Amino acid sequence: MEQYLWKFDFDCGRMGSLDGLFIATEKEVKNIIGKKAYFGEVLGKHSEVYGVIKETEIEKVDLDSAAVEKVSKILGKTWSGFNPLNYIKYECPNCGEEVHNEEFNKEKGLCWNCSEEE
Ligand SMILES: [Zn+2]
Repeated sequence: MEQYLWKFDFDCGRMGSLDGLFIATEKEVKNIIGKKAYFGEVLGKHSEVYGVIKETEIEKVDLDSAAVEKVSKILGKTWSGFNPLNYIKYECPNCGEEVHNEEFNKEKGLCWNCSEEE
């Protein structure tokens, strides 16, 4: 799967905005559109930044995949700021829990608790 560089610009209203540059495939980006993301208190105490990721908030940067590949070997998937992929909440269809990115088994489409019970 080809990876691209994406620019993230998440509007938080009066509090400001969050931005970032990150690497992902087109499929990964498509998957998070319309999903809820929780960033926590990233804009100061009690700021509790969260919201639904909109298509207009993620823009593909015109940079060829070979260059993306090379730089990502050095910088990893998040080049600067916030990578929305790390903040998505997934709802487990089995137990109904909303879990964080790393607690969700994307292959099975279940939270890790439920996927281990199978
Ligand atoms: Zn579950």
